[in-house]
Amino acid sequence: MSDKHTILKNSFGHTEFRPGQEEVIDAILAGQDVLAIMPTGAGKSLCYQIPALMLDGLTVVISPLISLMKDQVNALTDAGVRAACLNSALSPAEYVEVINGATRGDYSILYIAPERLSGTEIQRFADAQNIPLVVIDEAHCVSQWGHDFRPSYLQIAEFIRSLRRRPVTAAFTATATSKVKEDILRALKLKEPHTLTTGFDRENLYFGVEKPRDKAAALLEFLEKRKNRSGIVYCSTRKTVDEVWGLLRDRGFPTTRYHAGLPDHERHENQDDFQYDRKPIIVATNALGMGIDKSNVSFVIHYNMPKNIESYYQEAGRAGRDGGPAECVLFYSGADVRTNQFLIQNGRDEEEERDEALITHNLELLKQMTFYATGTDCLRSRLLSYFGEKPPSFCGNCSNCLTKFEEADIRVDAQKIVSCVYRLKQRGRSFGKTTVVDILRGSKRERIFSMGLDTLSTWGIMADTDAHRVRVILDYLVDRGYLTLEGNEYPVLVLCAASEQIIRSKEPLIMMVPREAAPPPSHKKSLILELPPDDEVLFTKLTRLRKKLAQEAGAPAYIIFPDSSLRDMCRKRPVTERMFLEISGVGAVKNEKYGSLFTTLIREHEEETAVIGE
Ligand code: ADP
Ligand code: ZN
Repeated sequence: MSDKHTILKNSFGHTEFRPGQEEVIDAILAGQDVLAIMPTGAGKSLCYQIPALMLDGLTVVISPLISLMKDQVNALTDAGVRAACLNSALSPAEYVEVINGATRGDYSILYIAPERLSGTEIQRFADAQNIPLVVIDEAHCVSQWGHDFRPSYLQIAEFIRSLRRRPVTAAFTATATSKVKEDILRALKLKEPHTLTTGFDRENLYFGVEKPRDKAAALLEFLEKRKNRSGIVYCSTRKTVDEVWGLLRDRGFPTTRYHAGLPDHERHENQDDFQYDRKPIIVATNALGMGIDKSNVSFVIHYNMPKNIESYYQEAGRAGRDGGPAECVLFYSGADVRTNQFLIQNGRDEEEERDEALITHNLELLKQMTFYATGTDCLRSRLLSYFGEKPPSFCGNCSNCLTKFEEADIRVDAQKIVSCVYRLKQRGRSFGKTTVVDILRGSKRERIFSMGLDTLSTWGIMADTDAHRVRVILDYLVDRGYLTLEGNEYPVLVLCAASEQIIRSKEPLIMMVPREAAPPPSHKKSLILELPPDDEVLFTKLTRLRKKLAQEAGAPAYIIFPDSSLRDMCRKRPVTERMFLEISGVGAVKNEKYGSLFTTLIREHEEETAVIGE
């Protein structure tokens, strides 16, 4: 039996595990149930596919999305893993064939739609199998509190119970609030599961906000610089989708569209055109949802601002699932806020009652979204703190960090802030962050005077510094443990051992702080996807070869290789099959299938460009 590292390389072509993957695999192999909450694109599939290949018998994966099943099976088969699926898209003959194959022991992994779990036929089949592992994908579908409740998910526990031997049960989901998590544990009857949550941060995603005067022109300019890339343009209404789609089509961009106003067959066709890269750009409303699992989406543009951060992060998160660099850009305009306000207040069906509490709640969520779009602090940190994580205040890969922050020596500022807390302590007082900032900036508020705080020597010593900047530095000092917050409801700033270090220090203290003045309208460094010109040429050639192979195989292009593998080829330029094995995403099977084709293309490219270079 191969070990997990060998399988990771040989079957999947990766050299290292991503965070959380190994932990889940080990737990499953040790016979423990698992509940894994991992963000989209984190690599959940490998967590059960690798154990499936190591365990004796047939691993059953319950998944709600037929189109994803087909893709997973295609991808696995292409990597030399024996897999099949059972769902309503199969003809009766195909169904029988899969059942027979599984009975013969042809497969290691069988995907099943939840609706297929009941019925005597499947019971008889399952009875005859050795099933060491049952996986529940999109496990939040079991919860009525989740946004994608599927009644058939409630049959899963019964199915598992009916098996001859209780299999290890592993549940996976990308979104689970504590309520949903409880539901999963209960409804699936997980036994003392190993529970794991990996962070929500998606490091490979760039986040940007732009406020274009003319959105259409800005979009065209953006796309012009990203030829050959696949992406989604989200709009808030069907009408805007139609307009934007028309515009892009007229300008010759290979674009399709998706919204609930299109007839079923057209919607499916369009989604397929996108999925298979016949039309790599899709303009869509938020109806384009969970079924989208295209790993090579390299940008998601929001042409209009969504109603809340949760929707935004979920939609933007469809970019960069292959782990390669990808961009999420929001085109903001004040009109979007007003449209959303109107929709929240008036957009309900005739019969529905007006629910004031819900409206207030939704308006609050809209406010958070608006802060995201208009604020000057790190965008990633806004998103992550919304989800309850404690991110650093500077990420270096969002439009605010790249244009609105600068490196600065904050030693003197830090000393002023710490001194202020020190002087307050001398008077036997302590205050929260807001009041301390007020004192430092010399606030003339009534409260400050009535408490005599204007007589402190530190009152107004930072009057010339922007309030936001003072606050950011103060936050930084607390994050780094130079000051401590005490108390729960109204936390106040207190000195700690490290505070003294700040007072005495003569060394520069460097951090990224918001720029004082508005940044020059220089062009942002958001073109992180652009390769050097020669790589760009090779990348295009590789994409063409991939497309041809995909057409021959009747599969979407990224099943052959994700963009990240093509980029790695541009970087490493493998010209032998041995070198080809070093490429991320290339395992033994892929090497055998495609190695010679791709290395030949690269060798020819190298030869051509060498001649030009002389
Ligand atoms: P999820 O289901 O969590 O959204 P997937 O399982 O579809 O994510 O994986 C997303 C992408 O990450 C896939 O393209 C997959 O090939 C890639 N991937 C998964 N694990 C690794 C790894 N250890 N190293 C590199 N790429 C990986
Ligand atoms: Zn940032």
